[in-house]
Amino acid sequence: MQKPVWHSSARNKLPLCYNATGMQNINLSHKIQKYIPAEVLDIICATARLAQKHGQNLYLAGGAVRDILLEYQATDIDLVLEGDAIAIAQQLAAETSNNIILHTEFLTAKLQLPSFNLDLASARRESYPHPGSLPIVHPADISTDLRRRDFSINAMAISLNEESYGQLLDECDGLTDIHNQLIRVLHTQSFRDDATRMWRAVRYEQRLGFQIESTTKVLLQQSLHMLNSISGERLWYELECIFGEKLPEKTLSRAGELGLLHYIHPQIDSHNLLGTWYDQARQMSLPQKPEIGLYLALLLYRLEAEECEKVAKLLKLNKNLSRTLRDSAKIKGSAALLDDITLPPSFIYHTLCSYDATAIKASLIASTAENVRRHIQLYLEQLRYVKPILSGKDLISLGIKPGPNINALLNHLLDARLDGKTSSREDEIRLLELLNWLV
Ligand code: ATP
Repeated sequence: MQKPVWHSSARNKLPLCYNATGMQNINLSHKIQKYIPAEVLDIICATARLAQKHGQNLYLAGGAVRDILLEYQATDIDLVLEGDAIAIAQQLAAETSNNIILHTEFLTAKLQLPSFNLDLASARRESYPHPGSLPIVHPADISTDLRRRDFSINAMAISLNEESYGQLLDECDGLTDIHNQLIRVLHTQSFRDDATRMWRAVRYEQRLGFQIESTTKVLLQQSLHMLNSISGERLWYELECIFGEKLPEKTLSRAGELGLLHYIHPQIDSHNLLGTWYDQARQMSLPQKPEIGLYLALLLYRLEAEECEKVAKLLKLNKNLSRTLRDSAKIKGSAALLDDITLPPSFIYHTLCSYDATAIKASLIASTAENVRRHIQLYLEQLRYVKPILSGKDLISLGIKPGPNINALLNHLLDARLDGKTSSREDEIRLLELLNWLV
């Protein structure tokens, strides 16, 4: 066996291993050790032992292989078994006392680890009853399994069997594409079989700083109409994945350029401001990531209310997200009310208090009028937390009869406090006396 020669890509210092016969005999055991946390590796090895006991082959596959080749820490682990994944997962769960979720019809199991996702699946072939539908799963070997995948960079596997541990399986030339920084589909029908792959192509391209390979790009452009075949749930899932990226605006901007955004709504465009808005959203949300609803509301901010409703329907959004979009459109519609420097704080409070907080944040970021921005910021940072000092119980113990009056009075006290007319318990009691509620 010839000794591998290591090369270094100039752009990302990716070490690639070649030998004289092309790209074989590449052993990645050292990378597995380095880029998969030790506690996860222990579970992988326990799975490999169980597989071996049953005479079945086990592989690390998909994104984790791509990531460790790129020298990124692996985040999610997909294990593929040439055999019965459900049975092995059950034994593994019993052995390691971790919980598992089984999807028997899809031959997959998810092991619930504290800070890691580990999926175990039977190697499969998939058939699609009709474009856009979920696939039907049939057991198959690893080679077939890798060939049904989306892109060559995601179609590699690493053997976890004792005799070939660490060996790379790369029948679709993923390593070359990693080296050349290309996103390439495995066959010409790929986007027609599953149009979500167009969104995935753009997401990986932008995340990894790769390029969609030229034939793949032509196929994507020819298949754009197939985006209409994706169900609302799957389309929303793709958008959620994009919003989970470090800089979603990059993927959205490229999706706009390639014509994908059009299939969410023809009027959505990833204008130049979106990056600035998303930056503000990130700043505003620190130390957390921005809520998905905030990213979505900003993406749709320029759409009229009825158009937002159409998108919510298309994506089958849940009640909370639909409300965020609806409220964001309403606040935009009533922004003129807030464009007056002399407004009392109580007016600002009542203009905004019934709206969803995420929608209000979106309006703060996207509004252009200085006064509107200032008033929304005042609301978000201070006014929304203000309460009267006296409670309903206090009012009753002061002798006010229980009933609807109590709420009205509490509102009155709140307004007085918001507008700086009261700032202590005594002030509030004095106000009630002035209003003749106390004798
Ligand atoms: P990420 O880092 O975004 O999680 P990933 O590669 O792990 O990337 P997953 O969505 O978790 O992505 O999918 C795991 C693997 O399953 C992928 O690497 C790919 O091989 C395969 N896969 C996922 N979605 C598709 C699809 N729509 N068509 C074909 N193969 C897919």
